[in-house]
Amino acid sequence: MKVTEHITRAKGKTQFSFEILPPLKGQNVQSIFDNIDPLMEFKPPFIDVTYHREEYVYKELESGLIEKKIVRKRPGTVGICAAIQNKYSVDAIPHILCGGFTKEDTENFLIDLDFLGIDNVMALRGDAVKSETYFKSEKEGHKFASELTSQIQDLNNGIYLDEELQNSSKTDFCIGVAGYPEKHMEAPSLDSDIHFLKKKIKKGATYIVTQMFFDNQKYFEFVKKCRAEGITVPIIPGLKPISTKKQLNLLPHRFHVDLPQDLIIEIVKCKDNKEAREVGIEWCINQSRELIKAGVPLLHYYSMGKSSNIYQIAKKVF
Ligand code: FAD
Repeated sequence: MKVTEHITRAKGKTQFSFEILPPLKGQNVQSIFDNIDPLMEFKPPFIDVTYHREEYVYKELESGLIEKKIVRKRPGTVGICAAIQNKYSVDAIPHILCGGFTKEDTENFLIDLDFLGIDNVMALRGDAVKSETYFKSEKEGHKFASELTSQIQDLNNGIYLDEELQNSSKTDFCIGVAGYPEKHMEAPSLDSDIHFLKKKIKKGATYIVTQMFFDNQKYFEFVKKCRAEGITVPIIPGLKPISTKKQLNLLPHRFHVDLPQDLIIEIVKCKDNKEAREVGIEWCINQSRELIKAGVPLLHYYSMGKSSNIYQIAKKVF
């Protein structure tokens, strides 16, 4: 079932959902199931599975020459989605990127999803590869998530890349896109970012999931601005509980988000990660409760591969 249908059917009740990462290459699928199993108690209507593009690894050879190797540390997004739908009978949402994909790759990826009975996708641009500063699309790929959204929507209308295909079947994907309450790091302003967010909706996206934020006010203001710009689709808040002291610096660096001073003070006071984790859980519970009160359709949690703190939060909140 589509995300938008799940929201309509819930009739205003806030639902619980979460995102997982495919296992590192070499690990088996059981590690993923072990994380998902406890969270099924909270009846998620869907589970998101992230997509991880290739990275470049440089290795010095005995000759002194440098060898550049392309590796993918977390393959398996489509396989994990199929496994989740099969094991839990819950919708799995694969993330799909512009980065690393030609339009042809994208089309073939979508055909696989369609054949597997997956009818939701999260359309993203992806970041630059780790060793590069700026995002570069494939020569025959998309530069922005709005272009990717267009291609998915074309397929929903039976329009494939090969114009000579006759009577081609239509897919029926519900398309989600990313939104940034504190603006995307490359956007010159929040207004500019929202302008391009609107473009993704115009091209066919029907819901938005936000980047993590730690101050609900940022989310409320973002939603207000989006609504003022005529964006009417559901805006699902994404939440991540802090779980280590190091994340005080890591999360702003990696995700370009601010942390509220009160949270920083509490984390700094912690003598170890165990205490920091408890502070993170408490903070996220309070955020969740306020967002539910405000009537958000879903709370979407970033598990980042570990679910025990999400479980503790959901147990208190749902
Ligand atoms: P876009 O919407 O394409 O925007 C990128 C930037 O370009 C923005 O600054 C925007 O304002 C600007 N822009 C857009 N269109 C135009 C235009 N026409 N002209 C000029 N500027 C424009 N990354 C992964 O690698 N894998 C994942 O699974 C993944 N999942 C994510 C899930 C969520 C909910 C979120 C919020 C992010 C996720 N990301 C993931 C990270 C995401 O790929 C990065 O944040 C990426 O840098 C931007 O992706 P986007 O889809 O928002 O890009």
